[in-house]
Amino acid sequence: MISVVIPIYNEENNIRPMYGRMSAVFDKLNVDREFVYVNDGSTDNSQAIIEALATEHTDVKYINFSRNFGHQVAVSAGLDFTTGEKVVMIDADGQDPPEIIEKLYLKSIEGYEVVYAKRESRKGESVMKKATAKMFYRVLNKITSFDIPLDTGDFRIMDRKVVDQLINMPERHKFLRGQISWIGFNQTYVSFKRDERMSGTTGYSYTQMIRFALDGITSFSNWPLKIATISGFVFSFIGFILILYTLYSKMYSDTYQAGWASQMITIIFIGGIQLIGIGIIGEYVSRMNENIKNRPLYIIKDSNIPHASD
Ligand code: UDP
Ligand code: MG
Repeated sequence: MISVVIPIYNEENNIRPMYGRMSAVFDKLNVDREFVYVNDGSTDNSQAIIEALATEHTDVKYINFSRNFGHQVAVSAGLDFTTGEKVVMIDADGQDPPEIIEKLYLKSIEGYEVVYAKRESRKGESVMKKATAKMFYRVLNKITSFDIPLDTGDFRIMDRKVVDQLINMPERHKFLRGQISWIGFNQTYVSFKRDERMSGTTGYSYTQMIRFALDGITSFSNWPLKIATISGFVFSFIGFILILYTLYSKMYSDTYQAGWASQMITIIFIGGIQLIGIGIIGEYVSRMNENIKNRPLYIIKDSNIPHASD
């Protein structure tokens, strides 16, 4: 059996069309499936639509969160309650075309534990979003010690053993695509053209995207901390040279003048560098703090999966 995890945040007009398209794929492949819908605190009619769908089809399971916990948490919760031998993660808005699941599946049964869907092109997204995403994945790849595939979202199929490993990774700031690369095994990809959203608007604001990017970086690289250290050394060295120069010019040169401007510039500049360093450390410390608190990752309001709601 194959499980499909579908995170839902205000997707009222996409839920039924997506169900139809996904079911058609599995009917064609003639494989058993379950759909695990995770309603991430939607404020529209999504919950009612999912619950109605569940009364009509036995392969529909759902989890309703007590509030919005974010996309990565929603997907993680879905994974926790999957039972299939293979698991697909897919967006609910049609941007990941369900028809690609067929390709992912056929590739995976050739003997790959993970087959991810790589975006050849992206339709209906702003130039800014595409450009920043492109840059982010390239930088991330440079600063991590293992390869995180470029231009790839969470759309993929995974074997149960990978999912079990993923479920057992305790970090709270999930960056699933990175964690899955880190897990290893045989991974490959199929290319696809990312579609436009069928309806509705994106649930990812720029602030959320930046937070997500920082989660990715801090989870998989200590490089920013090293940069803070290295810039500390570089500027200390420059400072040392300047001290020598200052002493020299005070004692031996007759052109010595009180340099207000150079002092101001130095103070402001070094102050800025220090604050950036503290900020970088802060990003790591705050994530450690979140992890230490050890709160549940999400809270389930109700569900039609028996052991999920107790
Ligand atoms: N989503 C979610 N919680 C959120 C934001 C989004 O579960 O807080 C879901 C959303 O319903 C969709 C998927 O995550 O199925 C991807 O979100 P979206 O399409 O808004 O992001 P984008 O494709 O614009 O990056
Ligand atoms: Mg989308």
